[in-house]
Amino acid sequence: MSRTSGETEASTEPQPAPRAPAAPAAFRPTVPDAQWRDWRWHMRKRVTNAEKARQWIRLTPDEEEAIVRSAGRYRWSVTPYYASLMDPDDPLCPVRRQAVPALAELMEHSGAEVDPVGDMYYRKTNRVVHKYPDRVIMLVTEACPVYCRHCTRKFHTTDVEGTYFRENEGSSYEEDLRYIAAHPEIRDVLLTGGDPLSYRDGTLEEIVSGLRAIPSVEIIRIGSRFPVLLPQRITDELCGMLARYHPVWLNTHFNHPKEITGEAAAAVDRLLRHGIPVGNQTVLLRGVNDDVATMRTLMTGLLRIRVRPYYLYHCDNVTGVSHFMTSVEKGWEIMEGLQGHITGFAVPQYVLTTKIGKIPVARPAFHETPEGLRLRNYRGEELTVDRSVYPVREADLR
Ligand SMILES: *Cc1c(COP(=O)(O)O)cnc(C)c1O
Ligand code: SF4
Repeated sequence: MSRTSGETEASTEPQPAPRAPAAPAAFRPTVPDAQWRDWRWHMRKRVTNAEKARQWIRLTPDEEEAIVRSAGRYRWSVTPYYASLMDPDDPLCPVRRQAVPALAELMEHSGAEVDPVGDMYYRKTNRVVHKYPDRVIMLVTEACPVYCRHCTRKFHTTDVEGTYFRENEGSSYEEDLRYIAAHPEIRDVLLTGGDPLSYRDGTLEEIVSGLRAIPSVEIIRIGSRFPVLLPQRITDELCGMLARYHPVWLNTHFNHPKEITGEAAAAVDRLLRHGIPVGNQTVLLRGVNDDVATMRTLMTGLLRIRVRPYYLYHCDNVTGVSHFMTSVEKGWEIMEGLQGHITGFAVPQYVLTTKIGKIPVARPAFHETPEGLRLRNYRGEELTVDRSVYPVREADLR
């Protein structure tokens, strides 16, 4: 198989080395490079049934059963690119766990809801969810290149026809744009879904240019997992189009170091060269990344490809997703294994997403004592500092 990293001809900087083949040849269908580089080919050739999955991995009986039983309830597809990152023999592979249905998705879990964060409650138009004072999310599509098993909007793909839209995906954007224009306090619009980059460039440009025509919209953000699930989608043409509507920011969703490939790095590089800053939102997932060593490798690996870690989301108790949840205590352990140990800006903010918004929940590294402020560093060493070092100003007490 002659597969190279997705670097562009125009690129002059050294690029990360092509990914070393991790899987035995039996699980590496031969794909000509021209097709491997073509994102549309990957979209057409997505894995959507057990037969296609068997080209990439040795399915376990449980996976086979989960594929059959989840059909018609949760959408399923995996791009050949992402499938190639799965370990063919290890059902515990962190990429495989994110991509292949599990029986646990079909079990009842206490406290699970389809919309634990209240998106539907804050929805103002077909697509606009207005929860915070100065920014909104705009649900663009319910389509994704891979339907991540842990998706927080899994309801989007529940019963296959499930949706977060008030009407439907195809309705006119007029009402959504009118709402944003009529609320000049909205200075930040985040395109999400589903994955907005599922659309072809022309459709996307209609949306982005519509937003850019609203004077009160200062920044446009895109939430997309394409850099991880199908980096070939991040073409120079796409980046060039988006760059005409700056300032545009993009946040993606790397969950495990295995996902940081030469191809993903090249996609990020294209975005950055077009002036689009790239951030990352990781979800804390049991059995995928719930240990300090993996998280350190992930966060420092992101800096190497110039992606800035932004949020670490606690996994929500979403119907069909609960088996990925960890305890908040596990999140604290991970945050305390990052903060101070690695570059400050490699450390994301740990948040719970709730009906009242995102809540930062990292444990404070200090507490008030009669002797003064008790401070704790990353090694667990403690120091008491007299309160007079940090004088209280009456005016600041509320
Ligand atoms: C997360 C989110 C945003 C963006 O929040 P930031 O903290 O600015 O990244 C906006 N609206 C909704 C409804 C959200 O869930
Ligand atoms: S790409 Fe994002 S929206 Fe789509 S299934 Fe994965 S986590 Fe959900």
